[in-house]
Formats: sequence, C-alpha cells, structure tokens
Amino acid sequence: MERDKEFLASLETQDNGKSYASALSDVKISTLTLQYYAGWTDKFFGDTIPAGGLTSMTRKEPVGVVGQIIPWNYPLLMLAWKWGPALAVGCTIIMKPAEQTPLTALHMAALAKEAGFPAGVINIINGFGPTAGAAISEHPDIAKVAFTGSVDIGRIVMQAAATSNLKRVSLELGGKSPVVVFDDADIDYAVETTHEALFGNHGQSCCAGSRTYVHEKIYDKFVEKAAAKAKARKVGNPFEQDVQQGPQIDQEMLTKVLGYIESGQKEGAKLQAGGKRIGNVGYFVEPTVFSDVQDNMKIAQEEIFGPVQSIFKFSSLEEIIDRANNVQYGLAAAIITNDINKAMKFANNVDAGSVWINCYDALLPQTPFGGYKLSGIGRELGKDGLDNYLETKTITMKLL
Ligand code: ADP
Repeated sequence: MERDKEFLASLETQDNGKSYASALSDVKISTLTLQYYAGWTDKFFGDTIPAGGLTSMTRKEPVGVVGQIIPWNYPLLMLAWKWGPALAVGCTIIMKPAEQTPLTALHMAALAKEAGFPAGVINIINGFGPTAGAAISEHPDIAKVAFTGSVDIGRIVMQAAATSNLKRVSLELGGKSPVVVFDDADIDYAVETTHEALFGNHGQSCCAGSRTYVHEKIYDKFVEKAAAKAKARKVGNPFEQDVQQGPQIDQEMLTKVLGYIESGQKEGAKLQAGGKRIGNVGYFVEPTVFSDVQDNMKIAQEEIFGPVQSIFKFSSLEEIIDRANNVQYGLAAAIITNDINKAMKFANNVDAGSVWINCYDALLPQTPFGGYKLSGIGRELGKDGLDNYLETKTITMKLL
C-alpha cells in the first residue's frame, strides 16, 4: 500500500470524486489501520475462570467466513476497518464494495495476492446491493455479516441474516451528529472545526457534524464567519491541487442534497451561503450554510449526506443535552469549550458512540467507533473491533 499510495489515491479520486489530498490521507490511515490490527494477531485470548469447583477457560475463535458490505464514501478506509480485525483473528473474507466505487478494493485484492495471502482468504465480489449484497446476507455458509451503509439497507441485511442462518451482524449506519460551541470558545477555532466537521468529504460522512449548535452570545458573529468560510471553499476538479471539494457521488445524491436545500428554505431556515448546483456538468454543489435552523425541520432531523451546514442557536447546557439527543441517530457528538465541567457533563449524557471534546473526527485505529440508537450495532476499530469476528468457547474441566 505504501509503494502504491499514489496509484491507490488516484483510483479513489477517480472513482469517488474526493480531492486527491484527502484520498492520499485515506490511503495513509488505511495503511495505519491494517498495521494496527497486524499487531493484534497474537494478542487476543480468553480467561481462566474459577467457578463451582471446576476449572474453566475461554478460548477466542474466529467466527469463520465473514461477509463485508461497504459503502462508497470511504471505499478504501472502510475496507481497512473491515479487513484488519477479521484477518487478525483468522477469518476469511467475502467483501462487496459499493457499486459506485469498485476499483480500490480490486487493487487491494491484487496487493493481498502479491503479499502472499493464500487463495480464498480474501475475496472481492463487485456488484449491486439487491443481488451481490443480498447473496452475502442470505448465504447459509457465511457466519457473520458486517455492514456499513444506510439504515434502510441495514434493516434489510439484518432481516436476511435473521431468516437465513442467524449470522452475526454488525451495522455502522447513519448519523446526525451535533457539534456544540460554547461562548467561551475561540471563535475562529470553532468555526474552522465545525466547518471541517461538516464539509470534509463533501458532507458524505456518516459521522459528519451536521448539526452545529452555537451559544446565543456568539451566534451572529459565528454565522457570519461560518458563511464566509463556506464561500471560500474551493470546489472543482478533485485532481487540482488546491481544490477542497469535488463532485457529489452521483445524480441520485445530487438530487437528494438539492431537495434538502429546498426543504430548508421552505421551512424557514435562512440561507447564508451557497444553495445551488454549480454548472450543469457533474454533481457539484455549492458549500451551503443555513442559520436559524429549528430542531423540528427536516434538515435538522434527517441525514443530508452533502455539503450543507445547519446552524442552531442555544442558551444552556441542560437545554443542549436534550436537544442533542432529540434525533433518532447516535453516532458522534462534539463540544467546543474551555470548561471541563460542561464538556464532561455533555460527554456523559449525550447519546453517541463517540464524543469529541475540542476536536472532531478523531477516528483512531486504537479507539472503538460505532453507534447508539439507529446509528448501528457493534463497534469497529480498537480492541472492541475484534469482537465482531470472534466466538467465545468455554471449556470446563473437572479434575478427577
Ligand atoms: P449509501 O446510502 O451509502 O449508498 P446503501 O445502504 O445504499 O448506502 O449501500 C451500502 C452498501 O450496501 C453498498 O455496497 C450497496 O451495494 C449495499 N446494498 C444495497 N442494497 C443491499 C441489499 N438489499 N442487500 C445487501 N446489500 C445491499
């Protein structure tokens, strides 16, 4: 992967439309993730348990053949998150990449062959969801399915797993993650952090910070700066060096994102930046900022998956904990403040699998990631990520 990093990044940009710089960063993090899990290959083990006068021990065994279905937003990174723990504990893999982004997985399969993985350990099946994807989730000989994608398809995968062989299921689904900015924050740092939290990867990220809550005391100034920052974001050919945002993934997503922008305007949110498609070739959308967003609006509740920042006003910690939790998702949350008491009260009470204090998107191979509520089941990354691919066998011995 290190040798071919430019090639992998080019394939990713060509397939997905993300900027070459972010594709290169995806390659680096994917490499680090696989290196991290390589370290686990001889470090997972069970316990010895004294119970009832007998001697018991647990043995951790690979679950067997695993199916892995991944989305198009981070094709290579999602592959690394899924291959790493499965291979580390000794599973074999059948992976279906998203139909929009089939290329990097194929090159990774070639690299795996070159690196000496035995035939059959890693298998890539490109294809569409209802055919190739469903074949995985329904298959009687696949012991576990790991899925990343939308809530609707997550339900279908889980149902198929239940009605076939009750295969183990882990799901990493959508999000509507709040980022809370208190009035003691450095405003420029907060504007920058919330901007990247949302506009990174063109807003096409399951943990995008898609609800920016700003304290009333700094609200107007914050909105002004956030709008200026969005207007300055460079959109264009993702292979050009200073371009920060390429096209959205496809026509379907373009239509969906523009529909949400229209709905925000209809429901009375104030458009502060962007709001339109750029040109009529490709799927480029202006970085868009809404202020005066209310919690009950569609853009406040549903996952947009595009470059649309929604800024809300709040006044107290108690209020913001309730409001942060008032969505069906629970993937991530963040707070920007110098007050450790506020930060930790928020962190302890928010329904989210990851909470970031004074930072965002701190997705490290060492730390678990996953969702509460509709955002999913199970955790990926870190030691917890191994559990998705392990069975526990209890062996109990009576000494005669
Ligand atoms: P997104 O909204 O990110 O496109 P999807 O949930 O539609 O997410 O797709 C994520 C992955 O799930 C893709 O690889 C897609 O092909 C696959 N998929 C879609 N439909 C099904 C299905 N019925 N069964 C299994 N996998 C599916």
